[in-house]
Amino acid sequence: MASGKSDPLIDEFEFQELEATTGEAGAGAKGMEAMAQAYSVALGGFKDFCLKPELTRSIAENGFEHPSEVQHKALPQALLGNDILAQAKSGMGKTAVFVFALLEHIEKPPEDQPRRVLALVVVHTRELAYQIDREFVRFNRALPHCTTAVIYGGVPFEECNRHFKDPKKIPAIVVATPGRCLSLINDKTMDVSHVKYFVLDEFDRCLEDIRMRKDVQEIFSKTPRTKQVMMFSATMSQEMRNLAKKFMNNPLEIYVDQQSKLTLHGLIQYYINVEENAKSRKLVDILDAVDFHQCIIFVNTVTRCETLNALLRKCKFPSVGVHGGMDQAERIKTFDLCKSQNSKIVVATDLFGRGIDINRINLVIQYDMATDADSYLHRVGRAGRFGNRGLTITFIASDTRSMRSKEEGAEKGKQKEWKDDDILKDVQSRFEIQMSELTDLSKLDKKQYMTQ
Ligand code: ADP
Repeated sequence: MASGKSDPLIDEFEFQELEATTGEAGAGAKGMEAMAQAYSVALGGFKDFCLKPELTRSIAENGFEHPSEVQHKALPQALLGNDILAQAKSGMGKTAVFVFALLEHIEKPPEDQPRRVLALVVVHTRELAYQIDREFVRFNRALPHCTTAVIYGGVPFEECNRHFKDPKKIPAIVVATPGRCLSLINDKTMDVSHVKYFVLDEFDRCLEDIRMRKDVQEIFSKTPRTKQVMMFSATMSQEMRNLAKKFMNNPLEIYVDQQSKLTLHGLIQYYINVEENAKSRKLVDILDAVDFHQCIIFVNTVTRCETLNALLRKCKFPSVGVHGGMDQAERIKTFDLCKSQNSKIVVATDLFGRGIDINRINLVIQYDMATDADSYLHRVGRAGRFGNRGLTITFIASDTRSMRSKEEGAEKGKQKEWKDDDILKDVQSRFEIQMSELTDLSKLDKKQYMTQ
């Protein structure tokens, strides 16, 4: 539900004077495919994994020719049934590792046997759960027994419960957010006592939030002891890595990229020093000057998301806003609009900061700097996916910010204080990033960030 409040800082901008024009969408799909192919590893095709013929066919039909490095390294291990902890850059195709492994593992049950939930995929946001479910559906066409269901909060229980009413139609794969998943287990709607595969995507995010971690632990403890566990993320601190390993049995740790090299090659990164009350004008200058296919603009609060989106719409920019305060059906509708490229500009909170894959996004603007270096990395990784090019511009304001620290959880309500500049320094010290100040928009070279 929208909050109805507006952010006074954003309101200071005199939007009436502006005439909006947006960059033209120029590049064709062919160029993007060529880039993606260049990014994937020429180590043979998916045929070499000797998957079920139905799955191999469906992978080819969906245009996947060559596995990326993470797929090349992690998929054989996942197919062998090993527990895996995998880290690779955003946009490198981690999803396909567990999607293909589960579709391969799950066998057709005998007709006379009841259907069971065999695989649980747990993620931190509802939109990511929805996206992953769509990925299963994209590849399971010729494997009708690999049925899936997505369950998340914010919708009536009936919408989730219906998947488990008919014993002959119980989904084999359930993609879920932790809270609703646990409710369904606890009220005995969903039986997870036959689960053989447990996946945690964006696992560091799921485990660093204390409440989410508790839910994940409880869900995990309700599933059988013997199962294959797979966890994935682009980022993982030593602490999260150690914690993740407690869920696993001698896992194979796959690090495709070193911590310091997690930025994407095709991504050009800039920052602009701009005072808070000049941000909106600067943003409009950028949207007018820069060509882009789709653009995502990150802000740090729900109120700022609503205010900025309203402002852009008043300026006739084709923008939509998305944040956790919205009604769930509206959130999914907006997600679909973005995926189908019908929303050229998306103003979002960190709800879309991780995992979300909209491959036409080639411009990421951080109207508000991320609140930590990992979030910065995930946010900018929304552009430049799977070898496409992209441009990111981050606004650096000089004032001090404060918010509740994520690690402490809402209960303790501990405030942390920081400056945008501190985060920028942290990003630059942790990751090998070539980031320079953007002082003249006319110097931007379209060829560097537009995949043709
Ligand atoms: P990650 O989870 O690593 O951030 P995703 O799994 O979301 O990345 O994949 C990024 C994009 O790349 C998706 O649009 C996906 O369909 C595409 N992709 C993944 N693997 C391949 C491949 N081998 N060939 C072509 N496209 C791929």
